Amino acid sequence: MFASGMAAVSTTLLHFLKQGDHVICSYPIYGGTYAMLSGWMARYGVTCDFVDFRDLDNIRGAVKPNTRMLYTEGYSTMFMDVFDLRGAIAIAKAHGLVSVIDNTCATPATLKPLDWGFDVVVHSLSKYLSGHSDLTGGVVVSSQDTIRKLTAIEIGVIGGALPPLLTPGSPRGVFARSDCG
Ligand SMILES: *Cc1c(COP(=O)(O)O)cnc(C)c1O
Repeated sequence: MFASGMAAVSTTLLHFLKQGDHVICSYPIYGGTYAMLSGWMARYGVTCDFVDFRDLDNIRGAVKPNTRMLYTEGYSTMFMDVFDLRGAIAIAKAHGLVSVIDNTCATPATLKPLDWGFDVVVHSLSKYLSGHSDLTGGVVVSSQDTIRKLTAIEIGVIGGALPPLLTPGSPRGVFARSDCG
């Protein structure tokens, strides 16, 4: 569990990607994720193609020898586009890509991406899962191996862990945020 959805997203990207890697990301995508993948990761030598996942040929056409990750959302941000997830996963598996899905908009109530074959699921807790912006948090769901590494290294080094004081007894105002991002 992370301090925010973007802490979960950015830690996942930093965990799996290294200099020279390429990402295929669905578009439209959440603004923070777009900023990470289009600008920040490029500073570290990671490139990304944003493509319309409604047509699987766009994904197939974007695969390069150095493609490492397929990143998408279960119902796209704002537009609520629905993709052929089984088709996308088949492409990811055929090319040995790590598949990551941000399931914030769909929530586990309507979509369980691990059952569809995704390797990693990220959620912002700041949206439907907790109400909206009455708390801030994020989650990564994956294999025990990945979670062990995220817990041991990425949370400790990058530091985006969920604050332990976030309990029902906490003064709400401390963690509430003023915007409704
Ligand atoms: C809000 C949101 C995020 C980021 O979550 P924060 O908790 O605000 O950092 C990530 N992905 C999606 C789809 C979102 O809607």
